[in-house]
Amino acid sequence: MDIHNTFSVNRRSFIRHFSKSIGSAWLAFSVGTNVLQARNMEMSPLEQMTGGTQGSRKLGIALVGLGKYATEQLAPALTETRYCKLAGIVTGTPDKIEKWKSKNDIPDKNIYNYQNFDSIKDNPDIDIVYIVLPNSMHAEYTFRAAQAGKHVICEKPMAITVKQCEEMMAACKKADRLLSIGYRLHFEPHNLTMTKLGDDKVFGKIKSITAKDGQDIEPNVWRLDKERAGGGPLVDVGIYCVQGAIYTVGKNPIAVTAKEGPKTDFERFKEVEQSMSWQMEFPGGVVASCETSYAEDMNLLRADLERGWYELGPAYAYKGIKGKTNQGDLDLPKVNQQALQMDDFAQCVLQNKKSRVPGEMGLRDVKILEAIYEAARTGKRIELKNL
Ligand code: NAD
Repeated sequence: MDIHNTFSVNRRSFIRHFSKSIGSAWLAFSVGTNVLQARNMEMSPLEQMTGGTQGSRKLGIALVGLGKYATEQLAPALTETRYCKLAGIVTGTPDKIEKWKSKNDIPDKNIYNYQNFDSIKDNPDIDIVYIVLPNSMHAEYTFRAAQAGKHVICEKPMAITVKQCEEMMAACKKADRLLSIGYRLHFEPHNLTMTKLGDDKVFGKIKSITAKDGQDIEPNVWRLDKERAGGGPLVDVGIYCVQGAIYTVGKNPIAVTAKEGPKTDFERFKEVEQSMSWQMEFPGGVVASCETSYAEDMNLLRADLERGWYELGPAYAYKGIKGKTNQGDLDLPKVNQQALQMDDFAQCVLQNKKSRVPGEMGLRDVKILEAIYEAARTGKRIELKNL
């Protein structure tokens, strides 16, 4: 079948068919389960995607750091997971405990603070520790979790230096524990479709990529403190552009150039960049032009190709991601990204297999972020070796 002719003959139905086939392919890729079989068993949509619990105990997750992401996204997602559940919390703020305990049915013995956290090693209810702390604390809590014999999910960016990432991987390896990074978009159908469209070459070869992610940040938060954040919008939200460009092209970049944007708010951005624009060069000559900002809202991932284009906007949100191509809109399933991400890791633990978003990927991205800062500082093109 000539895919290109089909587009011109019946564009809408093709895009519908294409979205549907990508949706099914995604489901199979995502969870390796027989969706039709699950449907016949009258499961809920999430159950269909995850294939049920297969009778095993749900693994226990302890969230470390009960801030906005843990409270508003991860804890609710853990009420939808099939293979894991919220079993414990680690917090430095005793005032939060009552609310978390009553809302999530957590027993006192599964509640820790940062001082007694290491005794989690004696708690069989906790299989996985999920680190949701400021970036500079990711390394320490990954070491402590691994030493306590727990598998680890660590939020992005993996850490604030390449050296820390390498040490985190070594610590998990030594303890024989799995390590995964909180890259939820690898479980999101629209973002997965960006990879699939590139692989299938439906629109020909990729000519260029555009990726933008920014938000107007409130003042006086740890994200604006260099020591705790490790950097500004680049490491916090620009990292999604780095990720998006790589999974859209399907290859690692070979070099970067970059320029820090001008500061218009010196008070807010005393310590970190206000904005950054950078280019990532890929093998074969494709260039991704990327932008990030803490003073402007933007959210886009776009590929321009020989015979068309496709884009996501918003691309990196928790909900409401929309996909368009020059042949019509993408119609893909809406999912709880965090629930699928955590269920996938729980299955990795149950089956002792590496996560699709492992420490190696977090390390690769921190190497790229460091190279972007170096390129901006020196004005030079920085080659990326040993990614
Ligand atoms: P937050 O500020 O809302 O929460 C941080 C938590 O860490 C708070 O509970 C705070 O009390 C605790 N904390 C402990 N020591 C601290 C210290 N020295 N300074 C500041 N806070 C301290 O932040 P958040 O938005 O929940 O982000 C936490 C982590 O999750 C970050 O690494 C961030 O990049 C990541 N995150 C990921 C996503 C995603 O989509 N994957 C989304 C948001 C945040």
